[in-house]
Amino acid sequence: MNNSNGFLLVVSGPSGAGKGTICNALLEKYPEEYALSISVTSRAPRGMEVDGKEYFFKTLEEFEEMIRLDLLLEHARYVNNYYGTPRQWVEEKLQEGVNVILEIDYQGGFQVSRKIPNVLMIFIMPPDLEELKNRLVFRGTESEEQILKRLQKAEEEIKMAEQYDYIIINEDVEKSVEMLHNIVLHEKMKLTGE
Ligand code: 5GP
Repeated sequence: MNNSNGFLLVVSGPSGAGKGTICNALLEKYPEEYALSISVTSRAPRGMEVDGKEYFFKTLEEFEEMIRLDLLLEHARYVNNYYGTPRQWVEEKLQEGVNVILEIDYQGGFQVSRKIPNVLMIFIMPPDLEELKNRLVFRGTESEEQILKRLQKAEEEIKMAEQYDYIIINEDVEKSVEMLHNIVLHEKMKLTGE
C-alpha cells in the first residue's frame, strides 16, 4: 500500500450487533471517502434483499468456481453457507484512494490481514448478549434454529474480539460512526504524518 491508497477496513461483529447499520450510516455521512464491498454468498436472499445490493447471490457451484478462478480476496463458511469478497473491485477502489469496508467475519478478516498490509481490523460489540438476542428476534427474518446457531456463532466471534485492532461498543449508532471515522483519520495520520 502506498500513502495515497485507501485503507481496507475489516468490520466484524456478531450478527445483530449493528455493524450493517453503522457501515451504512458511515457511507451516507462520508460518501466520497468510503465504499462498501458487496460480498458474494451462497445463502438465499433474506426478506427484501436484492441481488447486487446486499450481496451477489450465487449457487454453491458458482461460488466454488469463483474460488477456483481466484476471484475472491477471501472466503469463509458461516452457518452452512459460503461468503466471500470479490478481489478486483476492492483492489481498484483502494488504488483510487477510497477506504474500503469489508463487513465480514473473523475467518475472512484474518485471511485478508495476512494478504494486505495495513488492514484495520475493527470489531463491533453489542452492549450485551441479551440485547443481541432481542435484536435478532426483533428482526424476525430467521427461524428459531437459525437464531440459536447465530447466537452460538456470536459467542465464538466475541472470543476473537481481542485480536482486533479496535473494539467499538455499539451503544449509539451516531457515536459508533464517529468513532470509526476517527480511527481511520488517526491511522492515516500515523501513516502519512498528515
Ligand atoms: P448474514 O448472513 O447475516 O448476511 O452474514 C453472516 C455473516 O457472514 C456475518 O458475520 C458477515 O459479517 C459475514 N460475511 C458477510 N460477507 C462476508 C464475506 O464476504 N466474507 C466473510 N468471510 N464473511 C462474510
